[in-house]
Amino acid sequence: KAALEVERIRQDFPMLHRRMNGLPLVYLDNAATSQKPQAMIERLRSLYAEEYAKVEEGHSLSQHATKVFEEVRAKVARLIHAAEPREIIFTRGCTEALNLISRAFERSRLGPGDEVLITLAEHASNFIPWQMACEDSGATLKAVPVTPSGELDLERFEQLLGPRTRIVAVSHVSNVTGTIYPVKRITEMAHARGIPVLVDGAQAVPHLPVDVRDIGCDFYAGSGHKMGGPSSVGFLYGIASKLEELPVADGGSTMAETVSLEKIQPKPLPHKYEAGEPCFGEAVAWGPAIDYWMDLGMERIAAYEKELTAYATGKLLAIPGVRVLGAETERISVLSFTVQGVPPKELEKELDRRGIAVRAGELDAEPLLKALGTDMAVRASFLFYNTREEADALAEAVAELARLH
Ligand code: PMP
Repeated sequence: KAALEVERIRQDFPMLHRRMNGLPLVYLDNAATSQKPQAMIERLRSLYAEEYAKVEEGHSLSQHATKVFEEVRAKVARLIHAAEPREIIFTRGCTEALNLISRAFERSRLGPGDEVLITLAEHASNFIPWQMACEDSGATLKAVPVTPSGELDLERFEQLLGPRTRIVAVSHVSNVTGTIYPVKRITEMAHARGIPVLVDGAQAVPHLPVDVRDIGCDFYAGSGHKMGGPSSVGFLYGIASKLEELPVADGGSTMAETVSLEKIQPKPLPHKYEAGEPCFGEAVAWGPAIDYWMDLGMERIAAYEKELTAYATGKLLAIPGVRVLGAETERISVLSFTVQGVPPKELEKELDRRGIAVRAGELDAEPLLKALGTDMAVRASFLFYNTREEADALAEAVAELARLH
């Protein structure tokens, strides 16, 4: 297939044309959240102006609302190659999806002596919920170490899988180094011992072809706002039989079939996990953004971004004093770096002054940064609408700031 026409693509994302601090915006904060295609913004408008009603059986408008909501569920299922739409639970984001699973496990699978195995590379959203679940249930949280080069130590992983390990929870892609972790291999190793696997795909879904059935994992969580969607939509995928046997995480309206003082009977999937008003408008408006990504093609997106990231990495590594975290690993378009003698927060501020939006700090992954030998870093993260010229602008600014110190 032909290469991406980035200049044409950029026309579809209005935010890319604004200025920041008086200069053309160079938006390199895509790992935090992506900018939005016009088609998503227009769908948000048309839904609220012309089609909005409660998602539930009932009058015609509600029937229509239910239909368009369910169409997006099927789209998400196609995106990640789930077997059936009912295996997709809509959430307000990836964080909520991870909390949903950890809470369901805490309620039914975790007790004193049980273990949860995560990795030291986890984003806070796949770390803290498990810490809480262990604290409240008396289970023990264990973590697979990360090597200084940014790989998971798979030998240690195998040793840490024990007879009381109740779940393995691991990122598909690091939000700091962009490293793609071997989730298929990890799933095979855990399943060989009968242990279920949850994958945090927040950083993978917008950038890579994802096939949950090929990975083989039991659960997979993702985020919509990092993929052109509105700010609060995400999903939890789970193999239907696995979701069916877990208890509900949240109670409330629309999730119960029958209610009495003694007990409730939850609705079938996916409704048992969608208590209260769902993220209806957000999910529906995410639909055209998913189409946009899929029309470009996930393979083509991944190839373009890989090339651009390799280019930017080369440019940055050529600057004396720059270290790129996890540079040698198999990565997507996330690039975190440090510059000797320049505090990351100062780099962020100076780049901001030059119209370049990056992110600096602990990046919601303090244990990972520590394992990589630093406590803070600057992160530049690319998406298919970014260009080599933008990577040049970043490298030139970093070179100048490195020289000044
Ligand atoms: N996991 C990872 C790896 C992430 O990078 C993020 C977002 N930075 C999350 C989870 C949380 O996603 P959300 O913002 O959709 O809650």
